[in-house]
Amino acid sequence: MSDYGFDTLAVHAGAHPDPATGARSTPIYQTTSFVFESADQAAALFNLQVFGNIYTRIMNPTTAVLEERIAALEGGRVGLATASGHAAQVIAFHTLMEPGCEILAARQLYGGSLNQLSQSFAKFNWGAKFVDATEPENFRRELNEKTRCIFIESIANPGGFITDIEAIAAIAHSAGIPLIVDNTFATPYLIRPIEWGADVVVHSATKYLNGHGNSIAGLIVDSGKFDWGQNNKFPTLTEPCPSYHGMRFWETFGDMAFGVACRVLGLRDLGPALSPMNAFLTLTGIETLPLRMQKHCDNALEVARWLKRHPKVAWVNYAGLEDDPCYNLHRTYCPKGAGSVFTFGVTGGYEAGVALVNNVRLFSHLANVGDTRSLIIHPASTTHRQLDDDKKRAAGAGPEVIRVSIGIEDAKDIIADLDQALNAAAD
Ligand SMILES: *Cc1c(COP(=O)(O)O)cnc(C)c1O
Repeated sequence: MSDYGFDTLAVHAGAHPDPATGARSTPIYQTTSFVFESADQAAALFNLQVFGNIYTRIMNPTTAVLEERIAALEGGRVGLATASGHAAQVIAFHTLMEPGCEILAARQLYGGSLNQLSQSFAKFNWGAKFVDATEPENFRRELNEKTRCIFIESIANPGGFITDIEAIAAIAHSAGIPLIVDNTFATPYLIRPIEWGADVVVHSATKYLNGHGNSIAGLIVDSGKFDWGQNNKFPTLTEPCPSYHGMRFWETFGDMAFGVACRVLGLRDLGPALSPMNAFLTLTGIETLPLRMQKHCDNALEVARWLKRHPKVAWVNYAGLEDDPCYNLHRTYCPKGAGSVFTFGVTGGYEAGVALVNNVRLFSHLANVGDTRSLIIHPASTTHRQLDDDKKRAAGAGPEVIRVSIGIEDAKDIIADLDQALNAAAD
């Protein structure tokens, strides 16, 4: 399989005609559990001496196709599916973190991830520090002996900021810790973080990978490249595991250690398994990922250029525009396109922002990204409304800011809708 090109892998990786029926589309194995062949086989499965299906919380044949496909598309060693993007993050961190340890993260993150890391993880006694990722050296300055990983997004909130993955990977590796990249906004079609030095990739497959806004799903990809035995920072992987008779993951599974531990400890004990139905919908979405992503990016560039000339628009923040501060990073990391989520400012401030979202017809006013449909939100009146104006501005959600996720409709229709809504919103 690995000789095939990206578009071929998007359709085929991990899938085979069903051995029982010959079905060509991956069947939905909607079952909780799988009958053992014998007591000996059952014992070998539970001892991790052989891999196989036991119970859908840990493994399922439909989900396994999705896991193999994302590993192939990202160029990684092992894939793991979870119930949501946030569940993928919890499981990845759970494998690396001990109480009292810290995650060093970019400040430019999805709002839900900022909450997860700073609020909920505090209950596990996992610390989180945030730095401005526009300057990679900021990460080096905040490293300490408690830091267990660096966490960034490839294309980040707000407004499609592009992160210098290679520079930040080098800083993580100099400290003997892995770089985890949330590749949700780019997908492996635009950026393959492992090729730039990332050790683990996580996804909210809810967004472009599924692409149709019909299911919540998460994915983890283990690159297989990190040396977990180089220090004593990762006891879950290097020390004897009491729940598997003292087995050591790093010694036993080598370059699959992290991926296997995420499954047989993280999924087993924390429990956020993906349903086979949602694995099927995500797989079906991924088959057209290359076609959709290119159209998303082409439309986004056309819309961003048009907005830039509109008299009711004060500024446009899109890395695909030649004068954008991220333009050079876009040319380096994702020359095929800068994604389709970006922000712009309306000249009329808060009131004009509210009027714009009230007047769109083709766009959907909602809190999601990466759908076939064009989506719009005014963060100051929705996702960030609890913050005061200074905090809103600091989070990139000032009163005039509009965030769009450009869909795969005809660009002329997307533009016409924004035009009539901007004009209707005029004061
Ligand atoms: C949506 C999103 C998440 C969370 O994923 P869910 O599937 O909603 O749990 C994490 N990171 C990014 C960049 C996202 O856009």
